[in-house]
Amino acid sequence: MGARTPYDPLIMTIRETWRRWTEEDRLVQDSAPRRNLQVLSVAAWVLVALNAVHVAVFGVLTFDEPVRDAWARQIAMAHGVMAVVMAPIGGLARRLHAQPVLSVGSRALPVVACAVVLAWAIVLTVMDQAVSTSIDPYVNAAVGVAIVFLLRPSTVVGLMGVAWVALVWALGRVTDDAALLTTNRMNAASATALAVLVSVLFWRYYARTERLQRVLAQTNRQLQAQRAELEALATRDPLTGLLNRRELVRQAEIELARVRRLKAPLSLVMLDLDHFKAINDRHGHAVGDEVLRQTARLMANSIRKTDRVARFGGEEFVLLLPDTTVDHARQLADKLREGLAQLSIATLEGPVTASLGVAGSTGDVDRSLDALLLQADQALYEAKRRGRNRTVVAA
Ligand code: GH3
Ligand code: MG
Ligand code: MG
Repeated sequence: MGARTPYDPLIMTIRETWRRWTEEDRLVQDSAPRRNLQVLSVAAWVLVALNAVHVAVFGVLTFDEPVRDAWARQIAMAHGVMAVVMAPIGGLARRLHAQPVLSVGSRALPVVACAVVLAWAIVLTVMDQAVSTSIDPYVNAAVGVAIVFLLRPSTVVGLMGVAWVALVWALGRVTDDAALLTTNRMNAASATALAVLVSVLFWRYYARTERLQRVLAQTNRQLQAQRAELEALATRDPLTGLLNRRELVRQAEIELARVRRLKAPLSLVMLDLDHFKAINDRHGHAVGDEVLRQTARLMANSIRKTDRVARFGGEEFVLLLPDTTVDHARQLADKLREGLAQLSIATLEGPVTASLGVAGSTGDVDRSLDALLLQADQALYEAKRRGRNRTVVAA
């Protein structure tokens, strides 16, 4: 442990920022090359078009001076070569962009293209020295690359640094005037620094946006999951996964309003397992729970998509059957009893039985949900009274 210094907070801040940047860079290590390939597949053709224009202009340009004529031919030639190089790179970028997983070569292609463009711009700049003192091709290429491509800061510093050194060296070969050479080299240094700055700013912005987007997407997913969970908690019975009583009542009110308007029938079936307490007492609560779950599954699998099934209380279930007459409801009730008799629960000696009460509204007589539930309950009670394991339809 070193001694504390007044610079500690600053060092901490720098470290923390560096850590965050490294992390953000990792986040975009896949998306940035992909985006670069996409951009390259367009930018390459834009460059080819520019090359074509230059070839057309400089290819036919003539002067009365051999130096200038030679310069114009060189420029036309350089653009022609560049078009021939960039066209396949553009095509390749389009194809690689579609790859599900980018190979090392695919990731490198945009960087290679940037290097080619910078090298080519240096050649153009050197050629231009025959007739002008400007370094515009280099400046355009450096700033253009910085704006168009998303390059890692380390990559950009390396690329641009090498380009600048190459330009400094090349200018020295063709410029005799020491003052001009110095100003061009220094202007190139400024342009290079500017390009690096622009590139780093774009990169940081992109990486940060990407991180925020991911955080947002993650938060969204969590919220959605929580919402689904809350909804399930509020509307479902945890043991069986069936609707709970409150949700069934809510949906039943809606269904009842609908069938009333259409004058359609609607039936309710109330099912209560027989002597369930004895099952619990004899085999334990866990077996009782298993019987409840299997009963629930049987009921859920026996109904139509438009029907609903709820666990109404301990071992009591309710079916809501829209567009179903009591006769059909009764048939379904008996089918359920048969299904129950066939349930295989290992430790149980006898079959599981249930008593069912059926009540319905024909659509002619307006019945409230409470009235229907009461009738079904009374019918169920009657089924119990008559000896259980049977279905009774309310009078
Ligand atoms: P009957 O034929 O008259 O309906 O008799 P029963 O024993 O089925 O009816 P009773 O109302 O006396 O007992 C219902 C039992 O259901 C009592 C209670 O412990 C049990 N029970 C309620 N909820 C659960 C549950 O979630 N799991 C289990 N295992 N048992 C439950
Ligand atoms: Mg019971
Ligand atoms: Mg009961």
